Amino acid sequence: MKKKLLRALGLLAAAVGLVTLAVPAQAAAPVYSGTGWKIETYNGIHSLSPDPYVIQLVKPTTGDKLTAAQNKTAEAQLRAQLTRTAALLTSITGTTFTLSSTYHSAETSCTTAERHVIVVGLRYRPAPGAKPGTSQTWPCYASANNSAWGSWIWMDSEYWNPAVWTIDPWRLANVESHEMGHAVGLDHPNVDGSDADSTADPYECVTNSSKDTPLMCSPNGGYGAGSGGSVTRAEQHAGEYTPWDIAGLKALKANFG
Ligand SMILES: [Zn+2]
Repeated sequence: MKKKLLRALGLLAAAVGLVTLAVPAQAAAPVYSGTGWKIETYNGIHSLSPDPYVIQLVKPTTGDKLTAAQNKTAEAQLRAQLTRTAALLTSITGTTFTLSSTYHSAETSCTTAERHVIVVGLRYRPAPGAKPGTSQTWPCYASANNSAWGSWIWMDSEYWNPAVWTIDPWRLANVESHEMGHAVGLDHPNVDGSDADSTADPYECVTNSSKDTPLMCSPNGGYGAGSGGSVTRAEQHAGEYTPWDIAGLKALKANFG
């Protein structure tokens, strides 16, 4: 009996040996950029964790220069789009993203930011220099492994005040998914294009015959968003990541570990 057991163990060891030989000595090297996508390594993010991420809104206040009614409209629009964006990110990356129904306090520092919480709020002209019509994301990274830790996003409250700003609904949806792209670790993939002036200018991104540009193109990319693009196409794909962005999101996930 004992002999038989030993023989069985010997066979198992041989099998393990074979498995070991079949597995590469190291995982594939991380990739940080490709055509139309780039990872935010300058912010310390190299990868996306398989553990779930939660999106939480900051309760809008009239201090953000919107009326109570405008805040209500803004919150409803944000919740509807962020639900769609979360579903897209989940299906693309395999990591679960959900929008919480509860509010979060305002976040202002990566040292206090909660792990895997993406805080989204309204602020009047939140970008550096109070640039009109501009939103901003502050992404944080996990110091242990450089995966996306969590972040906070301030959407410019002007978008919901038609007296001072007009923005097409599809563009607004694109901006929201664009900022979420930053939150999980995507950078602007702008490159010097046909003008060949050695500078990656605004709007200067890879494009195709349908005038799509990466959603992460800065600023205002997405389906049909390039010069001469179709508004119908842009509306049909509002808030969606293009194949270029999807390649970047998948790379972020593949880089984990
Ligand atoms: Zn951006």
